[in-house]
Amino acid sequence: MTPKLPIYMDNSATTACDPRVVEAMLPYFTERAGNAASRSHSFGWAAEEAVNTARHQVAQLIGASAKEITFTSGATESDNLAIKGIVEMYHKKGNHVITCQTEHKAVIDTCKHLESNGLEVTWLGVDDEGRLDLAALESAITDRTILVTLMAANNETGTLHQVADIGHLCHDKGVIFHCDATQAIGRIPIDVDAMQIDLLSMSAHKIYGPKGIGALYVRRRNPRVRVTPMIDGGGHERGMRSGTLNVTGIVGLGKACAILNDEMGKDVEHARTLRDALEARFRAGLDHLRINGSVEHRLPNVLNISFGYVEGESLLMGIKDVAVPSGSACTSASLEPSYVLRALGLDDDLAHNSIRFSVGRFNSIEEVDYAADLVIDAVKRLRDMSPLYEMALEGIDLKSVQWDVH
Ligand SMILES: *Cc1c(COP(=O)(O)O)cnc(C)c1O
Repeated sequence: MTPKLPIYMDNSATTACDPRVVEAMLPYFTERAGNAASRSHSFGWAAEEAVNTARHQVAQLIGASAKEITFTSGATESDNLAIKGIVEMYHKKGNHVITCQTEHKAVIDTCKHLESNGLEVTWLGVDDEGRLDLAALESAITDRTILVTLMAANNETGTLHQVADIGHLCHDKGVIFHCDATQAIGRIPIDVDAMQIDLLSMSAHKIYGPKGIGALYVRRRNPRVRVTPMIDGGGHERGMRSGTLNVTGIVGLGKACAILNDEMGKDVEHARTLRDALEARFRAGLDHLRINGSVEHRLPNVLNISFGYVEGESLLMGIKDVAVPSGSACTSASLEPSYVLRALGLDDDLAHNSIRFSVGRFNSIEEVDYAADLVIDAVKRLRDMSPLYEMALEGIDLKSVQWDVH
């Protein structure tokens, strides 16, 4: 049976809202449209109560307490608030921040901005699986280091960092640890105490909530972490982030977290089954494949894969019914190969050959089968026209690439 086309397999970029999230939000657009800061009437009280409920739902998902959650416009703002807010608050203690070359642009560009203003930044590299060397992290820490900011899971490859080890190392050294967990939330268990995370960024639209709403967790105990606000105004969110609260968005984020609190195990199982099926189909049907990033330490829903001797953009043309990005299309309009794949040591060709498949709650096994057939056919067709592929089959390998499947 042909599934409904086109097929969406770009859940790392954004997820559709769960209908239960939309349903929870609707009354706050209309009959309960109060301002959560209005203290004099029931409309305001209802909005405030809804925000409180959401704050608890978000906190529960990451093992935090409600007072440690600040609502923002999304993970980009959370990353900015965390990094700029810590750098400003602790500037007397030091002026050194440690991050990594494969972080999301929201972290990289924030650090670059601060670096151009005099902050000292250490940019850690990664190995060919996208993993960090903890010894390199440890030796980068000095008595001027105030912040380590490292993501939990990479948005292009799904590769996981050793978050708990990083957290414990930072706490032993007395350095604050910020973790962009936007991709990891809902896909691997995240607990801010077990992982010793001091600040955590998350976004609703990556976990079946609405776009334009997110949260920043800031630790209040052991140790108490303080952040200088970036947006001043009416003192909303305990002064951390002024501006009338996006009540509908907050209710949506809360509901998205509540669903995960109940169903994360099932959700992860579903995604892993589909991702593994897709990967197995490719391995069975094609040679000269390479999985980018760590195969072992990886999100359950992501498959970033290079198809040798096939240019990613041409492949995308051949599989128009499947919505996926290629390693050269990731950074918007430019055809620059992905900086994340480059940091793993991939040459430009291999980065251009890569496609990221990311499945989610609303994908089905029928969609996976259909997409696998389409991709395998398109790759074979393109390779039939490739003299390089023909040479590779004859054993003349110009690139000496280590393929996972020959
Ligand atoms: C999507 C994403 C962001 C940005 O989140 P927005 O809510 O869209 O601003 C930041 N970091 C990571 C790892 C992401 O995947």
